[in-house]
Amino acid sequence: MDELVALCKRRGFLFQSSEIYGGLQGAYDYGPLGVELKNNLKAAWWSAMVHERDDVEGLDASILTHRSVLHYSGHEETFTDPLVDCRACKKRSRADHIEDGKCPYCGSDSLTEPRPFNLMFKTSIGPVDDGVDIAYLRPETAQAIFTNFKNVVDSTSRQMPFGIAQIGKAFRNEITPRNFIFRVREFEQMELEFFVQPGTDEAWHQTWVESRLAWWREQGVSSNHLSCYDVPKEELAHYSKATVDIMYRFPHGVEELEGVANRTDFDLGSHTKQQGELDIQASVQPNTDSTAKLAIQDRETKQWVVPYVIEPSAGVDRGVLAVLNEAYTVEQLEDGKERTVLRLPAHLAPIKAAVIPLKRNHQEIVSKAQSLRSDLQRLGLGRIFFENSGNIGKSYRKHDEVGTPFCLTIDFESLETDTVTVRDRDSMKQIRLETAELPSYLATNLVS
Ligand code: ATP
Repeated sequence: MDELVALCKRRGFLFQSSEIYGGLQGAYDYGPLGVELKNNLKAAWWSAMVHERDDVEGLDASILTHRSVLHYSGHEETFTDPLVDCRACKKRSRADHIEDGKCPYCGSDSLTEPRPFNLMFKTSIGPVDDGVDIAYLRPETAQAIFTNFKNVVDSTSRQMPFGIAQIGKAFRNEITPRNFIFRVREFEQMELEFFVQPGTDEAWHQTWVESRLAWWREQGVSSNHLSCYDVPKEELAHYSKATVDIMYRFPHGVEELEGVANRTDFDLGSHTKQQGELDIQASVQPNTDSTAKLAIQDRETKQWVVPYVIEPSAGVDRGVLAVLNEAYTVEQLEDGKERTVLRLPAHLAPIKAAVIPLKRNHQEIVSKAQSLRSDLQRLGLGRIFFENSGNIGKSYRKHDEVGTPFCLTIDFESLETDTVTVRDRDSMKQIRLETAELPSYLATNLVS
């Protein structure tokens, strides 16, 4: 983990948030390469979950959430972790993270009884902070999918089975954020709510677990490092009938990467029931329109059904940590030296190719490299980088370390024959190609 954290900082993947003021605990900022990697991971998810399927619609809902939503979803009452105080050092811990009854910070066994601590971030709406008009930063993206269920069904005429997908920020006031970006207070989720006929839910649950495992393998995560954990009944979230956690061998241990839950009709049912009742916020008119029920009408039978929901919910940040950990390799070279290489699948690599002039100040070489870079950038393959350090060896080392699949070098021969050398990150082999061949070569080889 320490090596990964150091690489992330050195090369601009991740920085501690508010670092110049001592750091904000549980928050990280994605740097120039981190944002590319994160965007690529999200794009791969969106493509697999929305574009490549014909039964899923997308959504991008607000983070600020009406209090009623999280009241009736059960989060106000039950979205808690058990908190324990240490009487000796005054630090707080999660009761389920305590081993042998001892404080993880000072080792004292003088701990208070666990008490529930709500993880939601509360904020106030409007100019007067009188504690009445409160809202929450959403603790999961899922609720806005449920509250928009009718909007999406009415505007798309979907029938079951179908899904609604969303990627976005979620916030949890974790008692003990830790392990780099594994447990943070501000993170991103990639969530699908897949609506199915009651009775078909268990089979769909299984299908989604398998499909999600396959997707993680496509992101370069070895199946040897993935496993499934059937969450025991007593540990299930308040909405779940069954949950399978997809576990990954993180540098700090085997922990949850994604949860695949059978949420039954809990959320749609719960939001439907409450719509006729008085809203908890006086300023908001309750919705008494019975057609607003969160159900779907079968076209043939005309029956209204409240769907069951299968929810694959993955953390973007835990995903970034997993793909970085999988890709990070330190190799022993034949000449006895070491090289660090990020063997990221090409579709995740922050930089797809680096164009490197052999001589830093040679005008013709530099301008050929610059124009090649802009020609290749226009192909839409992702970021193409102009690397003019003047030191080829150093440039290769840098681009190995950040996972750039190809280095394209412009040398003197390039000027005469309109060719470039292409160096492959993984094999370190070099070939010479005509520049006209590069677009199709890159397009073919950047697909992982
Ligand atoms: P944990 O048991 O590790 O706290 P959880 O079971 O509460 O996680 P879910 O509510 O199932 O997590 O959320 C779905 C996904 O969101 C998780 O699999 C994880 O990838 C991500 N996630 C949840 N909490 C955090 C967090 N504090 N930091 C980063 N990612 C998170």
